[in-house]
Amino acid sequence: MAQRYTADDFDSDAHVGPAEALQRLKEGNRIYVEALDHERDLSPERIRDLFERGQKPFATVITCADSRVVPEHIFMAGLGELFVVRVAGNVVGPLEAASAVYACAHLHTRLLLVLGHTHCGAIKAALEGEAGPVAPLTERIATAIGNERDPYQASVRNAQAAMADLRSVDELAALERQGDLAIAGAIYHTHCGVVDFL
Ligand SMILES: [Zn+2]
Repeated sequence: MAQRYTADDFDSDAHVGPAEALQRLKEGNRIYVEALDHERDLSPERIRDLFERGQKPFATVITCADSRVVPEHIFMAGLGELFVVRVAGNVVGPLEAASAVYACAHLHTRLLLVLGHTHCGAIKAALEGEAGPVAPLTERIATAIGNERDPYQASVRNAQAAMADLRSVDELAALERQGDLAIAGAIYHTHCGVVDFL
């Protein structure tokens, strides 16, 4: 039987350091892979408490909009624990970057994780040269993956490109330089739930 965690076990406090935040995600994923369900505190009291005390998420995650890639489940997190930005292909454009700045500079999350995944439809579309209405995504991804044709390595390159895009934002680069932020990458294996941290 997988161990059950309550909200208090991971009660988020501001200034959770980058290494500890990463450890929490790794531990959460280890539990997720073997878990049969995911029960967290969604009570009216928890909702009200988070409203009154404000949110203090311990990590920011930028990931794909794929319905199988749900950070709160993948890392066994509850309300108020993760600041999540989702967009197909986990690309980082101006809106995603601004969201990351809000989370890191104002909410003080000290880990910024780009989470790509295998069997990503957006990456497949980019590999196949799809254009038209999806071009804003596929063109950006195609640039990121270059001549890579292996789907897993393409997802790695795409995540690394998103990390580079985040590091090109002055506020985020300054935070990372000061040791107040770590920008990391990871790939979620869609078939089994395991996260590879890059
Ligand atoms: Zn995807």
